[in-house]
Amino acid sequence: MVIKIGGAALAGGALEGLPDLLAAGHRVVIVHGGGLQLTRMLDVLDIPTRFHAGLRVTDEETMEVAENVFAGGVNKGLVRGLDDLGVLAAGISGTDGPTLFVEPVPDLGRVGKVVRVEPHLIETLWAGGFVPVVAPLGLGPEGAYNVNADSAAAALAVGLGAGYLFVLTDVDGLLEEGEPVETLAPDECETHVDSGLAAGGMVPKLRAAAEAARGGVEARILNGNRKGAIAAAIAGERVGTLISEGVAACKQ
Ligand code: ADP
Ligand code: MG
Repeated sequence: MVIKIGGAALAGGALEGLPDLLAAGHRVVIVHGGGLQLTRMLDVLDIPTRFHAGLRVTDEETMEVAENVFAGGVNKGLVRGLDDLGVLAAGISGTDGPTLFVEPVPDLGRVGKVVRVEPHLIETLWAGGFVPVVAPLGLGPEGAYNVNADSAAAALAVGLGAGYLFVLTDVDGLLEEGEPVETLAPDECETHVDSGLAAGGMVPKLRAAAEAARGGVEARILNGNRKGAIAAAIAGERVGTLISEGVAACKQ
């Protein structure tokens, strides 16, 4: 399973259930974001932050800082947090291995979209008993590229043939009038972007979940600050927003 952990959920107890998941035999990869931490560092350095359709416009200077923040403090801090839980973990970036290969996204500078996943490093870490913790960067024609962490997690899930993608964030799923939408077929995700129900950081999440679902992965957007959310989802409880090809089949 691939677990994506967002900036807000990083501070909560999102991963406290991880030892139980590992004990149950699940092979886990964690992908993290770090947008809040990057924006904070850019502010300190007096570098302006710009977003376009939920994605960060990344010039060379921003890219350099992004690599330092994502593959540095955020990645290492998360690995230390896992160590505190008794979980053996090793932090890598998508450019290690290399694991994530990207193509540049037009007009956004050094932003990449994953076009290929090379699982060798992740499988090697698993074989050694480590949980890989992946910073959202990928290798492209000019070197390292910034990859939206939701889409990096989805691409990894499809590339690894994962059964599950859990996108942990700070809300209970795609909310409509305060309640999470329980299930979505992949084709319905874009409808909620077009209608404006999903905005900001929820847009790349829905698109990533749709991509994962089309690739045969069961994707779920969950509140990472709720203890036991992943275990509840695996047990078949209705938590968060489930995005799956199976949903379309049920409705037909
Ligand atoms: P993360 O750090 O986990 O990637 P983001 O801030 O990027 O989190 O994305 C989650 C945010 O998306 C929520 O906190 C909320 O502000 C925003 N959002 C926009 N539309 C919706 C919606 N319909 N339902 C839930 N969250 C939404
Ligand atoms: Mg986000």
